[in-house]
Amino acid sequence: MTTVNGHGNTPQVENIIIVGSGPAGFTAGLYAARANLSPLLITGNEYGGQVSLTYDIENYPGFPESLSGPELVEKFKAQAEKFGTRVEFDYVTELVLDRHPFLVRTESGAEYQTRALILCTGARPRYLEVPGEKEFTGKGVSYCATCDGFFFRGKDVIVVGGGDSAAEEALFLTRYASRVRILHRRDKFRASKILQDRVFANEKIEVIWNTVVTEIFGENGTVTGVKTRNTVTGEAGELKTDGVFVFIGHLPNNDLFHGKLEMDEDGYLITDRKMRTNVPGVFAAGEIQDKVFKQVATSVGQGCAAAMSATRFLEELEDGRAVDLRTDPREFMTLRAPAMA
Ligand code: NAP
Repeated sequence: MTTVNGHGNTPQVENIIIVGSGPAGFTAGLYAARANLSPLLITGNEYGGQVSLTYDIENYPGFPESLSGPELVEKFKAQAEKFGTRVEFDYVTELVLDRHPFLVRTESGAEYQTRALILCTGARPRYLEVPGEKEFTGKGVSYCATCDGFFFRGKDVIVVGGGDSAAEEALFLTRYASRVRILHRRDKFRASKILQDRVFANEKIEVIWNTVVTEIFGENGTVTGVKTRNTVTGEAGELKTDGVFVFIGHLPNNDLFHGKLEMDEDGYLITDRKMRTNVPGVFAAGEIQDKVFKQVATSVGQGCAAAMSATRFLEELEDGRAVDLRTDPREFMTLRAPAMA
């Protein structure tokens, strides 16, 4: 098979381009590289994905002592590169999927052709979308305790959300903040039992149930408080605080795929059990197609499966057993399993 990158003058065709550098992307790289396909991985702007913002990973098998997100990402990268994955620090701006080989254009001006694509673009934090949120982002409003917790030494902070992220990040913030109040819209956490137990046992953490933030306000360019509403009584309130950490879930990074690939009602790519999208030769793995599990361990498994399916696809293409992709590849819809709710 012909390989090489799209920077040169000769138009060349990649075997596999992987878009995204989180656990799914690097695992896809590792497996595709070990299949001798010399994959090209384009990192995106958030190198390592969301896991690189995690301080301590306790539930990725093989590391009983736990390790940090950035450490794990470096191990993923080193292992993928060891077998021949080429890593480009660039950002994909356009995918052309109605021709084959597919085209991939990037921010740096590179244009690649590729026979197969594995999309691992992940997800980003969901915003509260209340007045003051945008204005005070980076000035007291944060979506990453690992990145910003340090700036709240001895201060009072509010965490919004009731899932694993809110619980985990609230616990992390107790290293710095003097008080952490978790505001949750219901009277029960969604977070796992082990994290809930730690939250309830932590003296620095107070939980305010049935409460949402309706506005974030401040003075002299920094947050000084939030306005709230009780979701049961409707009563309005106000809390003074130095910082607001928002952990209310995620949205899929799907900007590149609109009108090109099938998505569900929440914007996640639809894949079948073999990680195939509706376009033959285009696969997806990790949080761009998984709104249920969203674990490092599950993303790694999906990245592995996507690379194995892409390898099989390339073998069939080589043998002439694959569908004829010279016309619009989107005409050849794959069978897909029902999306998981
Ligand atoms: P999540 O599980 O979707 O939880 C989001 C939380 O935010 C929920 O409690 C939800 O309330 C609340 N929420 C949503 N929209 C809101 C709004 N507009 N205003 C106020 N609250 C709102 O998201 P996550 O905590 O980021 O976790 C995502 C996935 O990653 C999960 O599968 C989780 O298990 C996983 N994760 C795992 C770990 C770990 O294993 N250590 C750590 C972090 C994340 P409701 O409960 O009322 O819906």
